[in-house]
Amino acid sequence: MKTMPNILLIYTGGTIGMIKDFETGALRNFNFDDLLKHIPELKLLDCTIETQSFESPIDSSNMNPSYWQDLASIIETRYDEVDGFVVLHGSDTMSYTASALSFMLENLAKPVIFTGSQLPIGDLRTDAKENLITSIQIAALQEKGKPKIAEVGLYFEYKLYRANRTTKINAEHFEAFASLNYPALAESGVHLSINEAALRIPNRRRKMKVYKSLESQILLVKMFPGLTIDIITHLFSSETIKGVVLETFGSGNMTNDPSFLEALRMLRKRNIPIINVTQCSGGSVSMGLYETSVALKKMGVISGKDITTEAAIAKLMYLLGQEVSMDSFKTLFETSLRGEMT
Ligand code: ASP
Repeated sequence: MKTMPNILLIYTGGTIGMIKDFETGALRNFNFDDLLKHIPELKLLDCTIETQSFESPIDSSNMNPSYWQDLASIIETRYDEVDGFVVLHGSDTMSYTASALSFMLENLAKPVIFTGSQLPIGDLRTDAKENLITSIQIAALQEKGKPKIAEVGLYFEYKLYRANRTTKINAEHFEAFASLNYPALAESGVHLSINEAALRIPNRRRKMKVYKSLESQILLVKMFPGLTIDIITHLFSSETIKGVVLETFGSGNMTNDPSFLEALRMLRKRNIPIINVTQCSGGSVSMGLYETSVALKKMGVISGKDITTEAAIAKLMYLLGQEVSMDSFKTLFETSLRGEMT
């Protein structure tokens, strides 16, 4: 007899499970069991659901790589026993966590679907129920006895995205996420429509491997007209920096003021990788297209192509954590490892 898929629901925190504090009026986390009581519909799904909660659920603004390691450990421990995972997470930093997990879990052949909500599950107008129920349904989808989705996804407001392609774009609308450089993997309407061509094809012969070593001593610098060289020099003088993500203009351009370029060259001399990502929400870095990016290309700045800033940060932490040799670092970063760049 065919058994129903078994899904592990992991609760890390976030609005979905929050309640208004009686005294302050601010939203804070509440008990996971209480959360489940609000959705009796879960019993109607064609799968069994196990649950596991962070000991102290957090607002995702407090997320950090140590929690990513905890999450990866939970997935590693339960990987062989369940058919898929749904991770409940605050929306604020969901794209960062989900991107990080996409790199930490190599040869993933089962779904890890992140979701959350803009309104708490107890709220009358909540978006939590649909997000949670459909995420579980997606995680439980099977074809010929194998999970249909075999990657880290992010489901929010009727759309399933490749997680490492997403960015939170709205703090008000239920449609809080966008994936501007990659199509949605699935859309939920009257039917659940899967974009087959966009799905990642797993290599099921390879064993899933978890990488937990992440290097956090990195810096994200967003260029803006008026940014002073004094500030840049001060930031870059830190002895501890191991890598820099540079958010540049348009297709990867920044001022070609010699003092700025010299500051970057000094970093390169210290063998510190610099990743060029665009501050545009969509489109790609293309160094050399304009004069204002030629020098960057020459000094060996790495092209983030059409990667999101969230995924660039996660990939940098991951690759630095693997102590990849500096010779292959650029090639590896510029290669799509988990479908994070085109
Ligand atoms: N501040 C919340 C969090 O990220 C917002 C949310 O869950 O949507 O944890």
